[in-house]
Amino acid sequence: MKETVYDLIILGAGPAGLTAGIYARRARLKTLILEKNFTGGGQIVSTDQVDNYPGMPKISGYELAEAFVNHAHALGLEITQAKITSIETDAQTGEKVIGTKKGNFRGKALLFACGAGHRHLGVPGEEELAGMGVSYCATCDGAFFKDRTVAVVGGGNSAVEEALFLSRLCAKVFLIHRRETLRADPVLWEPLEKAENIEVLYNTTVSRITGEEQVEKLVLCKQGRGEYEQKVDGVFLAVGMEPNTQLAQGLVNLDENGYIVAGEDGKTSAPGIFAAGDIRTKRVRQILTAAADGAAVIASVSDYLLQDCTISTNSIEN
Ligand SMILES: Cc1cc2nc3c(=O)[nH]c(=O)nc-3n(C[C@H](O)[C@H](O)[C@H](O)COP(=O)(O)OP(=O)(O)OC[C@H]3O[C@@H](n4cnc5c(N)ncnc54)[C@H](O)[C@@H]3O)c2cc1C
Repeated sequence: MKETVYDLIILGAGPAGLTAGIYARRARLKTLILEKNFTGGGQIVSTDQVDNYPGMPKISGYELAEAFVNHAHALGLEITQAKITSIETDAQTGEKVIGTKKGNFRGKALLFACGAGHRHLGVPGEEELAGMGVSYCATCDGAFFKDRTVAVVGGGNSAVEEALFLSRLCAKVFLIHRRETLRADPVLWEPLEKAENIEVLYNTTVSRITGEEQVEKLVLCKQGRGEYEQKVDGVFLAVGMEPNTQLAQGLVNLDENGYIVAGEDGKTSAPGIFAAGDIRTKRVRQILTAAADGAAVIASVSDYLLQDCTISTNSIEN
C-alpha cells in the first residue's frame, strides 16, 4: 500500500501549531500534527490565568488550550501523539520523512512549532532535587507547599506571576533576582508591592540548592554580602525559556541562542521547512503572537506547495 504523503506535517500542538493546523485545514491542505505529549495545547496548559488573549479575559491556560484543540478537532485536523526520532529528506522525492516510534510520516512541507521549554539554572542540587522541592511550574506544584516557605528565582513576568500565585498559598515567598530591578511588566508591580508575604532579594544569585531528600536550604550570594544560607521548603525556577530546536539542528539555520532564524512568513534557510511560534527568532513570545505566526505561515506553505515544491500537489483535499 502506498504511504500517505501529507502536504504539511506540523511538529507541536501548541498555539502556533494548532493555529497553523486550523488555517491549513481551511486551505484544504492534507495536514498532520505530531505532538510529543499526550495532550496538546503547549506551554499554556500549566498557566493559571491568561489575561491577555483578546476576548478571553481571565481564562485559565488549560481552558484556552482545550478550546484551541477542540477547534482543530472540529475541523478534522489529524493530531497524533508521537516521539520523533529523526527527520530526513528523501533524496529522490524531496519529501520530508519524519521518523517516530509509530513509524515514518511523509510530508511535502514541514513546520517546526515545537515552542520552548524551561531553562535550567545549572547549579549544584538542581538536578538532584528536581521533583523534590525544585520545580519549574508553580501552578503545577504550588499546592504541595501550602503554608510553607518557598523561593522563586527570576525577574521577568513568569517569575513575578509565579511569586504572586505562590503568595496566595504559601506563608512566605522569596523572589530572588540577580539584578537591581525586575524585568517584569509594570502591570505586575502593584500586586507585587501589595503582597505582604513576598520579599524581593535583589542583586542575589543562587549558588547551590541543598537538602537530603527534599529541598532544605538555598546558598545565596548577595553582591557586597557574599554567601549565606536561606531555609526554604521549595524553589521555583523561572529563569527563562530555551527553544526546542534539537531536531532542527543541521536542517535549518539557528541563531546564537538556538532559535530557528525565520521571519513572520515562517520561511527558514531550507526550502519547504518552516517555523512558527516561540521556536523562531522574534521579540514577543506570547500566545497571540504564536497564533499569528501559525496563521501567517500557512500563506508561505501554500505558496511553496503551489509554486516551488517539485512534488506533485494533487493531494490537496477537497
Ligand atoms: C508559565 C508561563 C506562563 C505564560 N503565560 C502567558 C500568558 O499569560 N499570556 C501569553 O500570551 N503567553 C503566556 N506564556 C507564553 C505562551 O505560553 C507561549 O508564548 C506560547 O505557548 C507559544 O506557543 P507555541 O505554539 O509557539 O509553543 P508551545 O506552547 O511551547 O507549544 C509547543 C508544543 O510542541 C510540542 N513539542 C515540543 N517538542 C516537540 C517534538 N520534538 N515533537 C513533537 N512535539 C513537540 C510541545 O509538547 C508543545 O505542545 C506563558 C508561558 C509560560 C511558561
